[in-house]
Amino acid sequence: MEIKEIVQTLSGEKGTSCPFKLSKILKIGILYENIGTMMGYYSKDYRFKFIHINQNLSKREQRFVCAHELGHAILHPDVNTPFLTQHTLFSKSKVERQANIFAVELLMPDDLLLEHSEISLYNIATDLGIPAKLADLKQLKK
Ligand SMILES: [Zn+2]
Repeated sequence: MEIKEIVQTLSGEKGTSCPFKLSKILKIGILYENIGTMMGYYSKDYRFKFIHINQNLSKREQRFVCAHELGHAILHPDVNTPFLTQHTLFSKSKVERQANIFAVELLMPDDLLLEHSEISLYNIATDLGIPAKLADLKQLKK
């Protein structure tokens, strides 16, 4: 299944595309921590999954980080991912890229883009706290 389909199925089944609500429903703990220059990371201890988010980020940035780490939790549940920093955010590694695609699809669903078709993809992304460089990962409907 493509990541876009995974996201659509998940948000359809759970009735929300809010990364915080989805984490709660999926019993993934969210921890706000003072982790310096890092934005966040995902970890799994025994059966417990956690999303760690830098408490000093803005609300919008935290939402994006939560969506990205939720992507790891769902797509790569057994991989403890490296710290998300500005550097790894644009990493070409497969797991990072997949987590970013997940986050972009979750935060920018097709419906939202259709509703705001007069606004550019980049402006919508920036508004949602998604780094503009990542907006291109959005799979647009033909
Ligand atoms: Zn990551």
